[in-house]
Amino acid sequence: MQKKRSEELFAQASKLIPGGVNSPVRAFKSVNSTPLFIKEARGSRLFDVDGNQYIDYVCSWGPMILGHSQGEVAAKVKEAVDRGTSYGAPCEAEVELAALIIEALPSIEKIRMVSSGTEATMSAVRLARACTGREKFVKFEGCYHGHGDSFLIKAGSGLMTAGVPSSPGITSGVSEDTLICTYNDLDSVKQVFKEHGASIAALIVEPVAANMGLVLPEKDFLEGIREICDLYGALLIFDEVISGFRCCYGGFQNMCGIEPDLTTLGKIIGGGFPVGAYGGRAELMNRIAPEGDVYQAGTLSGNPIAMTAGAATLNILRNSDWYDRIEVMAYYLTGQLRSVLEDAGCFFSINRLGSMFSIFCSESDIRGYADVMTCDTEFYACLFNALLEEGVYFPPSQFETCFVSAAHDLTDMEKTIIAFQKALKKCK
Ligand code: PLP
Repeated sequence: MQKKRSEELFAQASKLIPGGVNSPVRAFKSVNSTPLFIKEARGSRLFDVDGNQYIDYVCSWGPMILGHSQGEVAAKVKEAVDRGTSYGAPCEAEVELAALIIEALPSIEKIRMVSSGTEATMSAVRLARACTGREKFVKFEGCYHGHGDSFLIKAGSGLMTAGVPSSPGITSGVSEDTLICTYNDLDSVKQVFKEHGASIAALIVEPVAANMGLVLPEKDFLEGIREICDLYGALLIFDEVISGFRCCYGGFQNMCGIEPDLTTLGKIIGGGFPVGAYGGRAELMNRIAPEGDVYQAGTLSGNPIAMTAGAATLNILRNSDWYDRIEVMAYYLTGQLRSVLEDAGCFFSINRLGSMFSIFCSESDIRGYADVMTCDTEFYACLFNALLEEGVYFPPSQFETCFVSAAHDLTDMEKTIIAFQKALKKCK
């Protein structure tokens, strides 16, 4: 695989941009390589600056559920660009997208658009603090909610329930207010609430954890945290930035039947443009400025292009059977990959939900963060690089999730299975 131009660009970028990239995981560091620079993306494929093409299972980290440059979405975006790219004033597309989301997610009565998932989660926690008059909040180790200070906190030593910063630059006050629990372990949640319940404003969770690879919630886990939040008067925030409109039209909350108090969204609702949103019951959302006293604002919030792309994407998803189709594709692919692995005497775990899946280089069942940590990340790096050589683009980290889009077809699946066979042979 020729990589000369990507390497030149990376060398240039590294002098200008920290680490040569504008978001860390893109740097390919954890797969011992350097990034590909992408020139174009169409359908299920990425095309790099050296003329290579790849079947893309990253899908821009989730948003591109219809595939790249989908015809109707692209046409609507082009028309919108001709009408101006940002007004700094309300536009019709904001109302259309808000109405689509509210119709799809019964727990949301009012929604505020922002420009990223990080903004959505930061704002939701601020609102929860304001509504409860409490300062602490609970998150789970291995869940990711963007790069807001209070989310960059990891578990401290076994004796502590307050977390410690996972990055320099975060104050001790912030880490003291963030309490860390173990995903899929209700006892850890009960314990933290028992100790700090009266000062906990909210618990934030990815209802399907997709940022430590894909880890599914166990039976009764989400129900249990709903009950605990109710018992202690804390708000439950579902971070559906990845899972929103991914597994079904609406959020994972529509599938599991548990209603959070607040929901955060991003990715798919922006159709490939920078977007985020948070919403919930009107009584809570009415606290947001200018209706209420909780300040939150954004120059590009509700941007007409992002709103148009998001509304076009949701309208297609709402009126089609794409969810069935992409689930079948992912089911077929993961079934075949499992057979390939087993034929090679390799009993790695594969987790899948709808069109999301992760192959874990570990023979343990992957049910939580501790299991994820048993993965052989060097083996994953080998697999990743060998797949790339065969024209298949998996996430450049063991701890990310693969996505199938509506543009992936059986030919892509067959090519991926053959590529996987070859890659496995190389790495075993
Ligand atoms: N929440 C979840 C669950 C995410 O996966 C992400 C990003 O991947 C975020 C929040 C942050 O979103 P953004 O990268 O748009 O700031």
